[in-house]
Amino acid sequence: MKLTIIGSGTGYINAKRRGPCFLLEVADQKLLFDCGWGCPQGLLAAGIDPHSLNHIFISHSHADHLASLMTLIQSRLIAASFHPEKTVASKLFLHGYKGFKKDFRRLRRMMMPEAPQNFKIKIHEYREDSRRFKGFDIQSLPVKHTDFFESVAFRIKAENKNFVYSGDCAYNQNIISLAKKTDLLLINASVPPQMYDDRGAFPTHLAPQQIGMIAHEAKAKKVVLFHLYDLASDEQTIKAVKKNFTGTVIVPKDDQQIEI
Ligand SMILES: [Zn+2]
Repeated sequence: MKLTIIGSGTGYINAKRRGPCFLLEVADQKLLFDCGWGCPQGLLAAGIDPHSLNHIFISHSHADHLASLMTLIQSRLIAASFHPEKTVASKLFLHGYKGFKKDFRRLRRMMMPEAPQNFKIKIHEYREDSRRFKGFDIQSLPVKHTDFFESVAFRIKAENKNFVYSGDCAYNQNIISLAKKTDLLLINASVPPQMYDDRGAFPTHLAPQQIGMIAHEAKAKKVVLFHLYDLASDEQTIKAVKKNFTGTVIVPKDDQQIEI
């Protein structure tokens, strides 16, 4: 499996990090995890044709995780009329949080009421679920995020390796259970270490110190951080994770590739 960091940032628009978006390549399948602002441009920068995605996972409905979805889908439909030379993956699987089907119907009505002829969309919703697809297995658990809606975390098993994506969450037992002995845990790290020391745990997001606790308890091998505001240096952030965790910690840059 190969992970490409398309966007390691947040909902705050800046030149250094795009909104949350990650590409996982499993054999000949392309899986995208969340699609925040800057996603299509980020895919192009990474040399990935956005029309070739096979699976898109949406952890929750905050704009920084969802906003580019309809743009990606509309472009596939347009390709049929204006760029027939484009190879569009004939089936697009959408894997979303509980309630995603209804949200997606509303988005379709607003933004793309035309029915695509050149590809099919198949939607699955997730809380505590497991499903099998060509080349990989999915496991999921809901994770605590806001009072308005929940977020869902995904575990992908393929090629004898495991990858876990936390989405956005506060400290919770489900992310520890899902990340058990995973090879790579991609996890949100919004709260700067100093802010956590001064104000304690946030109800919606994680601090590096808490990520260290989660990774240690889960016995994860490697953690990669995202949802970064860059209010602390990479060294300070890594040091705070390592207070509680002895494995590998990566503060990635956008466009960075990581082999799993
Ligand atoms: Zn969020």
